[in-house]
Amino acid sequence: MKTYSLIAPAKINLYLEIIGDLQTNQTTPGGGGGYHELVMILQSIGLADRIEISANGTQEFKIHCNHPQVPINESNLAYKAAKLMATEFADAFANYGGMDITIEKNIPVAAGLAGGSTDAAAVFVGINLIWKLGLTQPELQVLAAKIGSDIPFCLSGGTAIATGRGEQLDPLTSPHHLAVVLAKYKNISVSTAWAYTSYRQQFHQTYITDIEAVQSRTYKVHSSPLVSAIVHKKDDQLGKLLHNDLEKVVLPEFPQVAKLKAAFERSETLGTMMSGSGPTVFALCQSQTQAQQVKQEVEAAMADPDLEFWITHLSDTGIGLQ
Ligand code: C5P
Repeated sequence: MKTYSLIAPAKINLYLEIIGDLQTNQTTPGGGGGYHELVMILQSIGLADRIEISANGTQEFKIHCNHPQVPINESNLAYKAAKLMATEFADAFANYGGMDITIEKNIPVAAGLAGGSTDAAAVFVGINLIWKLGLTQPELQVLAAKIGSDIPFCLSGGTAIATGRGEQLDPLTSPHHLAVVLAKYKNISVSTAWAYTSYRQQFHQTYITDIEAVQSRTYKVHSSPLVSAIVHKKDDQLGKLLHNDLEKVVLPEFPQVAKLKAAFERSETLGTMMSGSGPTVFALCQSQTQAQQVKQEVEAAMADPDLEFWITHLSDTGIGLQ
């Protein structure tokens, strides 16, 4: 039976605003008081994992990965995606059986780049093809939201406003002409659940609770200066309007990350920000040449062998076949 090879891009957050507690009773898997109502602008980048999926003639899903930090058990989001498909499409599972899922990990782990979510998104696409289910992307996105807030975006990719838990998406035209430099300390990983729980502990008094006020705040992002800068390709403005509320809890807890961001700010870039729950810091640049220059400057300023860099570009695609 056929093997599918899929490209699973990482994402960065151009914008992340925490509005308040999600107005439904959904609870988070790890406890911590439920999900947050968010307004985000999510952006795919060229840095990507490669996922190979093939039927293995058993009734099991087996995960293989070249990265020691990636769990190959049922806690892996790629495994959860496969299990969900097996439950939802029991006849197809009985007919075609399980899969070997091989993850070539290029995206850093626990880095705020949706590495685990994008692998899971690739599994949804791969199983849809192997089991010949013919599900549309919106149908896959509904399933994907059941196991992770970022997975629906990873499926479609590009640039999108994400609201609700992060699973409600409005696509925007992608500024994929821009380059991006990313940097992450190898020895620092941040748990997304920890970042949101800490934010709630510190900032709960600022949460908007009135449902109409939440809706109006969510709606306002569509006409925000950042969305206008993205749509009209005003790159200087775009860079200045980057925002991430989670910096307020992650940067004080990890001073090295705050110093890294300060080093990026001293270089000439369009703008710099921590992505998602961090600790990856990125800077947008007009060209790959500028990105290379920024990388050299920050690398020299920090002089730390534990610091890893990537230079890539913004991308207008989600999961794709190789
Ligand atoms: O949905 P996902 O499993 O990626 O979320 C990981 C954790 O991030 C959740 O358990 C929750 O603590 C936090 N989160 C949140 N509000 C969101 C999305 C995630 O509080 N909208």
